Amino acid sequence: MSEQEACGHRSNRMLLQDNVQSGGDSQDPAAWLRETDIVSHDLPYAADLIAESFHEWQGGQAILPFAAAWEWCVLNFEAKWIEHINEEQERLRAVWEETGRHSLASGHPEVLSIQEDGEEKIILTIPVVTRTRGEIFALLGCMMPTAQYEAGGRHIAEAMAQHYRTCFYHQFEHVFVSDLAGVHLHAERESNRRSLLFQIVQRMHDNIDVDAVLSEVINSISAMYPGARLDLFMSQDHRSSHPQVKPLPPLWTSDDVCAIAFKDGRVAIHTSGEGGRFVEIGLPLGGKQGVYGVFHMVLDNPDFPDVDVRFLSMVADTAGTAFENAKLYERSNQLIRELRMSNELTQRLNQSLRLGDIFRFAFEELLEMFEADYCCILHLNEEKGGLEVIACNYTPLLNEILEVGGGLGGQVYATGESLILSDYLENSKVNSKLMEATSSQSLIATPLYVGGEIRGAIMLAHRETHYFSYDNYRLLQAMAGHIGLAVGNARLHAEVRRLANRDTLTGLYARHYLDEVIQERQTTDFCGTLIVVDIDQFKMVNDTYGHQQGDKILKQVSEIVKSSIRQGDIAARWGGEELAVYLPQLGVQQAAYVAERIRKRVQEETEPAVTVSCGIAEWSWTDDRVSVESLFYRADMALYDAKNSGRNRVVMDKKKSEERLKNP
Ligand code: GH3
Ligand code: MG
Ligand code: MG
Repeated sequence: MSEQEACGHRSNRMLLQDNVQSGGDSQDPAAWLRETDIVSHDLPYAADLIAESFHEWQGGQAILPFAAAWEWCVLNFEAKWIEHINEEQERLRAVWEETGRHSLASGHPEVLSIQEDGEEKIILTIPVVTRTRGEIFALLGCMMPTAQYEAGGRHIAEAMAQHYRTCFYHQFEHVFVSDLAGVHLHAERESNRRSLLFQIVQRMHDNIDVDAVLSEVINSISAMYPGARLDLFMSQDHRSSHPQVKPLPPLWTSDDVCAIAFKDGRVAIHTSGEGGRFVEIGLPLGGKQGVYGVFHMVLDNPDFPDVDVRFLSMVADTAGTAFENAKLYERSNQLIRELRMSNELTQRLNQSLRLGDIFRFAFEELLEMFEADYCCILHLNEEKGGLEVIACNYTPLLNEILEVGGGLGGQVYATGESLILSDYLENSKVNSKLMEATSSQSLIATPLYVGGEIRGAIMLAHRETHYFSYDNYRLLQAMAGHIGLAVGNARLHAEVRRLANRDTLTGLYARHYLDEVIQERQTTDFCGTLIVVDIDQFKMVNDTYGHQQGDKILKQVSEIVKSSIRQGDIAARWGGEELAVYLPQLGVQQAAYVAERIRKRVQEETEPAVTVSCGIAEWSWTDDRVSVESLFYRADMALYDAKNSGRNRVVMDKKKSEERLKNP
């Protein structure tokens, strides 16, 4: 609506109200309309209406034969020529206007006599007044031959001016009524929109689920514009199951409405098709923290009103805020969930310091946490020179040694880089045993760092494609950090235990460890033998070569002992220059061979050469009293015998050997 029209309507509406109030009990329901009028402030804006009604009136005149000879024009309330009515009469403009001014001053028709084309003619201007107050709002100008004027033409012209007034009011009422209807319609639409917007806002903010917010906004817009084609393009992190929600296309031309809406965060409109038949709209879906996507609408509607754009952008803004809130809510829930799971995992990992337990716990927790089909943990096995499958629910792979650098797990281990794969068959350049054997398509894998170095890899697989999210991938990396710490602790713990059980000088087990082992064995085994080895005249060796040399000899003897026994046998430093060897499940006779071998080798291999004496004792489950103390006591007694009978010899516990002689 133009400014002039707006002005005119304001005064008309005021009039309308007055009339409705005063004529409330009138029989004629349209009386108010006939009393509605233009008033003095409307006059400057009435030119269009005057011109239009003038044309209508002239069209009707064609049926009056004499009128063909007369020329008509119309002037405004100030007797100014209304430009665009009849250019041919421009030549007489000044004459019309002058006569008109006279009419304005007198309030009556005025005439002027002129010569035109050699004929005497009359110029006549007739005031046209408003229907309620009689104000002059226009002047009708007429030129006719003087002869006709005198023969009653003046009265006909005045009657025709009356008719023009009727035509004017006919037009006026039409415009007035249709504007009024338009205002009504507009107000109704506006109020509908307001209530719709209110409902949308309410529903959207009721939803704390991201997908529900998106569905809600799509459904609302679709319901408002049933013929429109609507898509919502979302950036990478916001996938949805809704069929109208699609990922952002990788390429948009810079003048695409979606590209503009997405990049600038504002509504973009483009019309296309014949005569601008199609309206294409890009609406950003944005919140306080950025633009997440863009609505793309195509309407088959040439005059899509501005107000709709404002309304749509309000809906999009609301959707953006609701989406952002839902997203934040989802994110905080996710963080809480991750925190809880990470807590559970670390708690479980802390329940044990044993490496085997740690891997088992980690494997079980990860499977559950990621709802994966398969979990596979690889751990470096230095002895076997490969990655051992230490935990895996695809059992044929369990305990297999994989090549470092081979397969996906080997690659993660070798490069130290995490991996996310959404479609193994389509995208993987590397073959993977796990993926092939289990027909898995999705994978997240991460290296296992222990104390700053890579010791293995963790892999989670699923048979569906695109199963793991980027958040899953990040979470696995965080969890691998916890697992790495637990593995590191277990390794440190094992090392500390190993050190605590060892004698530093000789590298043999410490006495307390030997005690523990024998005690344990005595509860499970049937028998076992202890050899006590003592270096002969060691005091003298020290005195002769010095204490340092004495230490070296002690080490030499220890090495000989170590290399003379089986894998399950345990050699320990019993104290000073005395060593002890426990041989599980072995009788005194066989132990004597071992002791004899040690004795011989010491004599031959030490430098400077020393000798040893050995005392041997055994226990068996049939003994009256089975204990570590008595075993040691008897072995010591045998050693004592060996020393007393000349040293450099092996002596068996006498009591046992005697018994054996009695009851072989
Ligand atoms: P034998 O056993 O033949 O009766 O005589 P011995 O001289 O070996 O016996 P004794 O028990 O009298 O002396 C043991 C010596 O071993 C005393 C000590 O100086 C020496 N000894 C004990 N522990 C160590 C050690 O760790 N390093 C060195 N160099 N000497 C040690
Ligand atoms: Mg000695
Ligand atoms: Mg001794």
